[in-house]
Parts: sequence; structure tokens; C-alpha cells
Amino acid sequence: MDFELNEDQREFRALLRAFVDKEIVPVARDWEHSGRYPTEIVAGFKQMGLFGITIPESYGGLDLDPVSFALVFEEIARGWMGVAGILGSHSLACRMIATHGTEEQKEHYLPELATGERRTGIGLTEPDAGTDLQGIRTTARLDGDHYIVNGSKTWITNARYADPLPVLVKTDPTASPAHRGMSVLLIDAQTPGYQVTKDIPKLGYKGTESCEIVLEDVRVPVANLLGGVEGKGMQQVLSALEWGRVNIAARSVGIAQRAFDEALSYSRQRKAFGQPIGDFQAVQLQLASMATSLQAARLMAYWAADQVQRGRADTATGMAKIFCSDVALQSSIDAMKVHGGYGYSTEYEVERLYRDAMLMSIGEGTNDVLRTVVAKSLSRGDAKIGWGR
Ligand SMILES: Cc1cc2nc3c(=O)[nH]c(=O)nc-3n(C[C@H](O)[C@H](O)[C@H](O)COP(=O)(O)OP(=O)(O)OC[C@H]3O[C@@H](n4cnc5c(N)ncnc54)[C@H](O)[C@@H]3O)c2cc1C
Repeated sequence: MDFELNEDQREFRALLRAFVDKEIVPVARDWEHSGRYPTEIVAGFKQMGLFGITIPESYGGLDLDPVSFALVFEEIARGWMGVAGILGSHSLACRMIATHGTEEQKEHYLPELATGERRTGIGLTEPDAGTDLQGIRTTARLDGDHYIVNGSKTWITNARYADPLPVLVKTDPTASPAHRGMSVLLIDAQTPGYQVTKDIPKLGYKGTESCEIVLEDVRVPVANLLGGVEGKGMQQVLSALEWGRVNIAARSVGIAQRAFDEALSYSRQRKAFGQPIGDFQAVQLQLASMATSLQAARLMAYWAADQVQRGRADTATGMAKIFCSDVALQSSIDAMKVHGGYGYSTEYEVERLYRDAMLMSIGEGTNDVLRTVVAKSLSRGDAKIGWGR
């Protein structure tokens, strides 16, 4: 049993950590509150090759293993979870194109996506369908060598920069079950009728835009049907979501680590009744509980990443996402408690951690829905818990 990263992973983590401490930590609070777009941070991501983390080397990417992939999101979220979103859905979409795209699609898009010259996201959710993706209403009707797409998407991360945006559509709205009639189209941003209509105001996750998109008679070449075969859209999307759950679990660990760091440091500085508050047993118990949960979450996230390396790991990634996001939220609340009144102030970091942590239980499948997925796979016997089982 080896709980250590290998040498390459350790070196990579050190590079990421130095970048986050220098380029993200000092600006996160001000830029988040002012709503300024983190252009310089994006430039740093490009310089480090981070837009290519899920793209094969043959197309110019870094082709990271799942553990290194998790390190990227843990470290960045420790600095500012919102900017981790810039790489999050981009990496998932790139992985989906690399795994399922035709050779022509891969050659056309992946090299520029790997450098960040092009960026992307993933367009699944609609105003009336989030968890229930089979209930989407966006349709793509074949017309010669084009599809005509009509519908709308909402909550789309990176929408203002995505080009192309992979969009989940119904190519056969009458199919039963519905997923057999669903496909992914790679829609170029300049296509007439494709419009990013609104930035959704939100509690946290600032630094990355979340938008509504309207699609009105958008003519998409048949060549942009992902993989060139209709009816595979749900499978293509679900295969990317497995990495997505590792991504969210790792971001959650980053938030929990920052919450713990801030709480520990504050407990040493702040004095009450003539001594640092960290000398009070009540505060010590709080810190010990935070550290214990944080360490458990980290083990769970990297165990799930390791399982992905070994093959299909829906249950492990689902369990890690649920657990780590719960820990992130609780840690951010505990860190605010340790800060007393200052924890409620926007002049400190911890209130942002709280606002950002809440999203971790919603994205990539809500925790309640993932619990039902985990429960089903346990009761079917597809997944087993315990040594050697
Ligand atoms: C900041 C942000 C960024 C996002 N980025 C993207 C993006 O880039 N691309 C994208 O496509 N989407 C994105 N989303 C959308 C996100 O994936 C959805 O919000 C999420 O899947 C939940 O869907 P919903 O909001 O429609 O909630 P609903 O599906 O309406 O769920 C509402 C409630 O009902 C519960 N529920 C629903 N069905 C069941 C069930 N079968 N069993 C038990 N409980 C159930 C849920 O757990 C939840 O508590 C983003 C969302 C946010 C907030």
C-alpha cells in the first residue's frame, strides 16, 4: 500500500502550488468581489499547458493521469475555486472529444484546445431539465448535410469563450427510451442563430461565467456530430462525467484545505482573554475535526482518481464526490466559526469558501441523485465495499 504521489506527480504538484501561491492567492478576494475577469490567470494556465490536461500528447496535450488531473483541481481550488471552473468543463469536453470524436474532429479542434487558443465547455442543462437530461427539449433536425438546431441551454460554464461548445440535443425526439435519440453536436460559436444571451447572477463561483444560450435555427454541419453516429450522446456525456466527479471531489479537497489553513492561522493570531484562541480546547477540537475530515476527504478523492486509472469507477467517483463536497461545506462553516465575527466579513477569505463550497454538492450530479446512483449499483451487486470483495 502506497499513499504517496510518485516523483512526477510530486514535482507537478510543486509547480502548481507555486503558481497558485504567486498568481491566484494574492488576487482572488479582490477580483472575486469586483467581478473582474481573471485574464492573467487564464494566461498562466495557458503557459503551463493546463488547457491540455485531458488531451493526448499526439494532439499537443499533457494527457495527465487521473491523480495528476485531481492535483490540478485541488491546488487551484485552494487558491480560488471559481477559476478552477475555467479548466473544469473545458477539460471534460476535451476528454469527450478525444475519446469519442472522429479523427477529423480531433485534428480540427484538439491542438488549439490544448494550447487554450480555443476554449470550450459543455452544454447539457436546460431551463426545464438538469438532473433529468433525457427530458431536454433542444432538437436537431437533419436537413441535407446540416442539422437545424432549436432550443436553449442554461448554466453553461465558459459559454462566452467556448468555441466549439459541445451541445446535447435530441436528433430523434420520438426515441424510446429517450437517450437512444440523443446526440452531441460541436457547435462553432460564430454560427448564426447561436447566441449567449445572459450571464446568470450567482452566490459564488465567480471568476467563471455561467450563461444562458439560445439556439434558433442554428445550421450545424453533419461533420460536427460527435463521433459521426447519432444516438450516442448520453453515453458520450456520461463517460466524461466520471472524470467530472473526480474534478469536483478534488476541488472540494482544495476548499477544505484552505478552510483549515485559514482557521489554523487565525487561531494562532487572534487573542481573547489574554491568550491565542487556539489555546482554548473548544477551538482545538474544532481544528482537530476539520483536519480529520480533510484528510479523509483527500484519501477518498485520490482513491477515486486511482480507481478511474484502473477502469470504470462510477461508484467510487460518486462516493468521493458526495463525501468531499460535504466536507468542503462543513469545513467552510467551521472556518467561519473559528473566525468569529470576522468570518462573516468579505474582507476575509473564508466567506468565499462557504459560497463556493455550496456548488460542490450541486455540480456533476446533485449529491442526492448520486446517492441514488451509488445505492443502485450496490444493490445490483455491481459495486462491493470491503477488502477483497
Ligand atoms: C454554477 C453552476 C454551473 C453549472 N455549469 C454547468 C455547465 O457548464 N453545463 C451544464 O450543462 N450544466 C451546468 N450546471 C447545471 C447543473 O449541472 C445542474 O444545476 C444540476 O445537474 C442539477 O440540475 P437542476 O438544477 O435542473 O436541478 P433539478 O434536476 O431540478 O433538481 C432539483 C432537486 O431535485 C432533486 N432531484 C431531481 N431528480 C431527482 C431524483 N431522481 N431523485 C432524487 N432527487 C432528485 C435534486 O437532487 C435537487 O435537489 C451548472 C450549475 C451551476 C449552479
